[in-house]
Amino acid sequence: MEFKVSKIVKSLGRRRVSSVRKWFQADRGPDLCIGKRLWKTVTPPKMQFFGWLAWRGRVKTSEFLHKIGVLDDQVSVLCPLCSNAIESISHVLLHCPLVWRVWSDLVNWWGMCWVIPCTVEDLLQWWVGVKLKKNERKLWNLVPIVMLWSVWKLRNEKVFSGRPPNFVELVDLVKSRIAFWAYSNIVGMQYSVQDIVINLHQVRQCLG
Ligand SMILES: [Zn+2]
Repeated sequence: MEFKVSKIVKSLGRRRVSSVRKWFQADRGPDLCIGKRLWKTVTPPKMQFFGWLAWRGRVKTSEFLHKIGVLDDQVSVLCPLCSNAIESISHVLLHCPLVWRVWSDLVNWWGMCWVIPCTVEDLLQWWVGVKLKKNERKLWNLVPIVMLWSVWKLRNEKVFSGRPPNFVELVDLVKSRIAFWAYSNIVGMQYSVQDIVINLHQVRQCLG
């Protein structure tokens, strides 16, 4: 599987979407439903691939790199966003207080309440289990894929460029990315990116 992962990573920039689809389909297991749903989103393959890594626990966090001996003992394994906990996958993508607040804003944007899940896998299990209409579902499925990728991008900007994370900006950015991909790719979408961001409740009522 490690061979497959590195092969896909190297080729993501130039391969067609069909390559990623085949790869998702090849990864059969008890959670295939999540994989199928992840694939059915209309986000770019790089976002879907990151969602897959997060789902399978293969994101290269500081904790992970330390465990496999890539980082030595002198290098901090604390979360680069809050500096208050070890940077595990579930912490940096879900439980970090700053990140959790963004997730909550997104769930509230949908007019829903939730209890934060223990792991990314639990999050996605819950996500795909929510009952929605067909086109609402397409929009809904975009949320975790875009959010996971956006958080990791923000984290990398802090780690590699020293850019301070702005979580207020992140909420707007994630909503705009979701709206853009929905507007561009969901057949029959009659609403603008701005409509989706600002009037999601009304847009959902009109979606089939
Ligand atoms: Zn943190």
